[in-house]
Amino acid sequence: MGKRSSSLYFNKAAGKFIICFFLMLVLPLLKVHADDPIVIVIDPGHGGENLGAEYSQYTEKYMNMAVARAMKEELEKYEGVVVYLTHESADVDMELIERAEFASEKNADILFSLHFNMSQWHNYFGAEVWVSAFDQYYAQGHAFAQIEMDMLTDLGLYSRGIKTRLNDREEDYYGIIRESRKLGLNAVLIEHCHLDQANDQPFYSRDAAQLKEFGRLDATAAAKYFRLRSEELGVDYSDYPVPAVDVPSAAVKPDLSPPDVCVLEMDHLDETSGEAIFTLTAQDYESRILYYCYSLDGGQSYMPLEPFPEAENAISFTVMLPFEQNLLICVEAHNAFDQETVSNVLEITALPDIMNQHEEPEIDIEAENSENTDAGSAKTESGAEADTEADRNTEEMMKEEKTAETEMDEISLEELAANLRTSQEQLSQVTYVYFGIIIAISLMILVLMILVAKIIMTKRLYKSKSNLGSKSAGSKKNKINKTNKSNKISYDDRSNNDRSNGRNNNDRSNNDNESSGVD
Ligand SMILES: [Zn+2]
Repeated sequence: MGKRSSSLYFNKAAGKFIICFFLMLVLPLLKVHADDPIVIVIDPGHGGENLGAEYSQYTEKYMNMAVARAMKEELEKYEGVVVYLTHESADVDMELIERAEFASEKNADILFSLHFNMSQWHNYFGAEVWVSAFDQYYAQGHAFAQIEMDMLTDLGLYSRGIKTRLNDREEDYYGIIRESRKLGLNAVLIEHCHLDQANDQPFYSRDAAQLKEFGRLDATAAAKYFRLRSEELGVDYSDYPVPAVDVPSAAVKPDLSPPDVCVLEMDHLDETSGEAIFTLTAQDYESRILYYCYSLDGGQSYMPLEPFPEAENAISFTVMLPFEQNLLICVEAHNAFDQETVSNVLEITALPDIMNQHEEPEIDIEAENSENTDAGSAKTESGAEADTEADRNTEEMMKEEKTAETEMDEISLEELAANLRTSQEQLSQVTYVYFGIIIAISLMILVLMILVAKIIMTKRLYKSKSNLGSKSAGSKKNKINKTNKSNKISYDDRSNNDRSNGRNNNDRSNNDNESSGVD
């Protein structure tokens, strides 16, 4: 009995010991505990003098701050979670190591660094999430990133993938991830989308509410990952199927090599319309093909990037080829790590513009002139722009084909309006000339009339003077003297004063005549 009870006691004690030992092992791993809230630190990327990406009216640090605030606000609606921002204002300068230290001091379960992206040639679009390349940091980061990326793609963004990046020392490339890991903390960097590319602009350009939408999305992804629930929001993610990601045995390295396969074939060419159908076969054995774009000039310039379907090795696409040009068509395939491979080049000799040749007699001078101007300006543009121009011209040509009659009507109306404008302008010009001539003639008649009137007046005056002369000879003598005196003064004035010399030649000749007459 005694033996039995002692063995029972031993068994009980051993059982307790085993349970305690097991809990000691497991508890540090299971940080999620009823009384132990999840601590989430959100880092709005950049700040202070570090503006982040800048494009058009967009400055990244402000966008990151708006998203971070919205993420915090949303996360705080969940139970059992404490949320901090590394800094509260976009005007705060903060080193990456300081951000990691802040999160470490708060005993954070995870650090989310929020960003918006920009590419050198403003051609990339879509969202990407960067995670640590190492062990459980990779596994946890990747699990969260899958939830986040699923939600971003549901929103309509293109996935550029969940990726790792290493520096020359084979450490995590991104400082926030590297410094956090050194402190035993996992950091995930979210690049929501590109602020310099037309495909992504509809996701933030409309209003500020769109940035809040990103914040709510990030918060929901975090809530799903940590299996939180919110009475306020009426959601419970307690049983959310968080993806299981194996802990890698070695660093998960990024793909540093360009796509392995990139072959272009032409399937069909309609020489009348210029429509050509191509097939691009592209593959990257280490990552995936993200985008492709084609060139008509042997790779000197390319059209904008197009998404390449995931889990496919080939894509078919249609190009409206421009007429009257020898073409060198090739394609560039880009992988998820922004490495590209150029395909073989297909030579296509200039397609004759049959449609335009038939319509030649119909084209009016004005239309022809505008076409010549277009061609002239296109020549001065860069290759890429010229390409776009060429493509647009081709599209316009197709539209013309469909609505030829309507356009012809429009052209003749335009022509009529232009002619009317021209004749109106000509008419107004002629009117001005006639008006000018009439005014000039009127002025001349007026001057003549004044002259005639003056002559008549002078004659009348002379007659009345000679009548008076016979009545008073003394007064006449005085008058003659006065006239002589005044003439003399005038003469002296003239000879001594340059101003009177230069002022009026007619006055001088009169004076000369009169003085000589007196002398
Ligand atoms: Zn950034």
